[in-house]
Amino acid sequence: MKVAVFSTKPYDRASLDAANTGHSLTFLEPHLDASTVALAKGFGGVCIFVNDSAPEAVIRELSNLGVKLIALRCAGFNNVDLVAAEQYGIAVVRVPAYSPYAVAEHAVGMILALNRNIHRAFNRVREGNFALDGLMGFDLHGRTVGIVGTGKIGAVFAKIMRGFGCRVLAYDVVENPECQAIGVEYRPLNELLRESDITSLHCPLTPETRHLINRDSISMLKRGSMLINTSRVALVDTLAVTEGLKNGTIGYLGLDVYEEEGDLFFEDLSSQMLRDDVFARLLTFPNVLITGHQAFFTRDALANIAEVTIGNITEFQRTGACANAVTAQKHSVRA
Ligand code: NAD
Repeated sequence: MKVAVFSTKPYDRASLDAANTGHSLTFLEPHLDASTVALAKGFGGVCIFVNDSAPEAVIRELSNLGVKLIALRCAGFNNVDLVAAEQYGIAVVRVPAYSPYAVAEHAVGMILALNRNIHRAFNRVREGNFALDGLMGFDLHGRTVGIVGTGKIGAVFAKIMRGFGCRVLAYDVVENPECQAIGVEYRPLNELLRESDITSLHCPLTPETRHLINRDSISMLKRGSMLINTSRVALVDTLAVTEGLKNGTIGYLGLDVYEEEGDLFFEDLSSQMLRDDVFARLLTFPNVLITGHQAFFTRDALANIAEVTIGNITEFQRTGACANAVTAQKHSVRA
């Protein structure tokens, strides 16, 4: 199949080329959006990532150009209008799981770095400053960790935190027996927020979870506790979180995703002025650690993503369907 791969980075090209089983892949640097959709002319499919955007207008144009398949090389699909895709007869496929370990382990890395101030110690020692003032952490052993969303990533994260000797609380609309079996205790969200020393978000972005962490929920957090978001940006109201940091309700913040990340992440903007004032303010806190949506970024995950994406394209080409298809009906998305 002829596929236009949008938002290509050198590492995407390397992993997709390695996994390719004979498809004609054209690697394009621009993100897919209304201004670039014309680049899909002459292709049967497009392959896109989290920063690409396929609302109704883009889907309509893709359909006019003869595109039949949108292959997401990620798990999330909130950037594609599934209702419009169905309406215009374009199949949408994704990579439902590629390495829950990659994301869970990154969340743990953020917890350790924030707690033990490893990000600050790194800079101090390079400057010849071996003072310990301001670097004191706490033992994770015996602390309470709250997990919002105990699916694939949340369950791996729960196991790791149980390994540290933490008490683990969880909130999910569906309880995971695998988590219950290792002693995870399910609680209502407000109780979890009140009792947890660390709260980590591992649920998808849906209308119900948008700004799940807002001014009200922040007021329920245990004072000085840690908040980690490696899931989706809009789970958190960033302005409310900034206030929480200023008044000390939030003691530590780890973000692998940021509200306006479409304009920021995955690009080298080091020679440009930062225009986002909220983001700039977040960077001034010593107890905030932000990474540029890299939680998924392991060798193993990229290889799995490429293999499943190529498999999805092949299956669709052969059968006109795909086990990894996402539809508005299956994923309860309404117009
Ligand atoms: P999953 O589908 O296996 O698990 C999600 C869990 O969230 C499920 O158990 C589901 O029941 C639960 N959930 C759904 N709605 C909820 C609600 N309203 N309240 C509480 N829980 C709810 O997904 P996963 O593979 O574990 O991924 C979790 C998240 O991590 C996704 O949003 C995904 O987009 C994000 N993610 C981030 C990165 C990254 O690089 N930062 C990479 C991959 C995935």
